[in-house]
Amino acid sequence: MKTIPMLDLRLEYEYMKEDIDNAIKKCLNHQRWILGPEVKELEDKMALYLGTKHCIGACSGTEALVMALRALAIKRKKQEFFDHNDKIITTSFTFTATGDTILRAGATPVFVDIDPETFNIDIHQIEECIAKTKNVVGIVPVHLYGQACNMDEIMKLAGEHELFILEDVAQAYGGMWKEQKLGSIGTAGAFSFFPAKNLGGFGDGGMVATDDDEIMEMVRMLLRHGGKDKYNVDHVGYNGRLDTLQAAIVSAKMKYIDEFNEKRRNIAEIYTKELSDVDGLVLPVKNVNMPDEHVFHQYTISVLRGKRNELQKYLKEKGISTMVYYPYPLHKMKVFGSGRSKSFGSLMHSESATEHVLSLPVEPLQSMADTEKIIDIIRKFFTK
Ligand SMILES: *Cc1c(COP(=O)(O)O)cnc(C)c1O
Repeated sequence: MKTIPMLDLRLEYEYMKEDIDNAIKKCLNHQRWILGPEVKELEDKMALYLGTKHCIGACSGTEALVMALRALAIKRKKQEFFDHNDKIITTSFTFTATGDTILRAGATPVFVDIDPETFNIDIHQIEECIAKTKNVVGIVPVHLYGQACNMDEIMKLAGEHELFILEDVAQAYGGMWKEQKLGSIGTAGAFSFFPAKNLGGFGDGGMVATDDDEIMEMVRMLLRHGGKDKYNVDHVGYNGRLDTLQAAIVSAKMKYIDEFNEKRRNIAEIYTKELSDVDGLVLPVKNVNMPDEHVFHQYTISVLRGKRNELQKYLKEKGISTMVYYPYPLHKMKVFGSGRSKSFGSLMHSESATEHVLSLPVEPLQSMADTEKIIDIIRKFFTK
């Protein structure tokens, strides 16, 4: 039986083989594996693409988040870590690392609920949470599945309450809010090049983007063990550098990112067109009032009436992979228990989403025939 994967990284490699092979060969020739020329090259290219003053390579999206948060603590509080009393607002419906990095930076994550339509953090909940919570120092909005949070509203709240905004852009490279690239709007943005992200390397990698000189300098110190001189350091640092080889590969792949994001949008458009009349599904509908450009890192449907797991099993039997992003909300995880985090309100939409969401294959190079096959089988499930 022919199977359809969520992603086909081998197919993508074949598509851009020459560019990638050449980039790797260049590294083999120069042998400068730690902070080699490709790292600076990628940082400059990305800063230009995103429209930020600085980009700083990191060894993963997670470490990019941690180092950005640590740099913010050092800059704003003049201390190595945030205090447990410092609250950072984020969503409960995201990848673990969003909340975990807040813990690692010493602060307390405060989880607020999502807007059930977009799965992104609910702006009204943030507003209420700020009004009722002491010592909120910042917000980490996540552009989930490649769709922008309402950055106008978030930046407005940041201005009114002197908060920092760290955008978690791990799923939204190339996504836009109005005329601005995601990750370039807040105080800083953190990207991931995990292989399955919409801009992925051949291993772990990440990036911090910022206009702030102090944050840039601090992240550069933190990623080299905490000092300008790594043999005589000032801060509690990390070995957080972006690998030369990953920088070379991501740099080669950047040539294709706009084309691939467009291909993702095209597949999403077909799904939406062909599935919109299926009773029992809620599709990621484009809100015409939202001036964003979705990059469809995931095309995520909601399956109603408790049929999500049944549909997933049915698709699997027919050779079609799907994924549940995410099966648990952060506030229910043990790591965020024992008083380490706070929950604001009921978080009912986050909890409900974990029971209903299903992400369909969006391989940019996926054939029309495969997309149609997936649609056919989903339709069959609902008429069987
Ligand atoms: C993948 C991801 C991260 C972490 O990135 P890594 O490169 O895997 O460390 C953080 N936040 C979100 C929302 C992600 O999807």
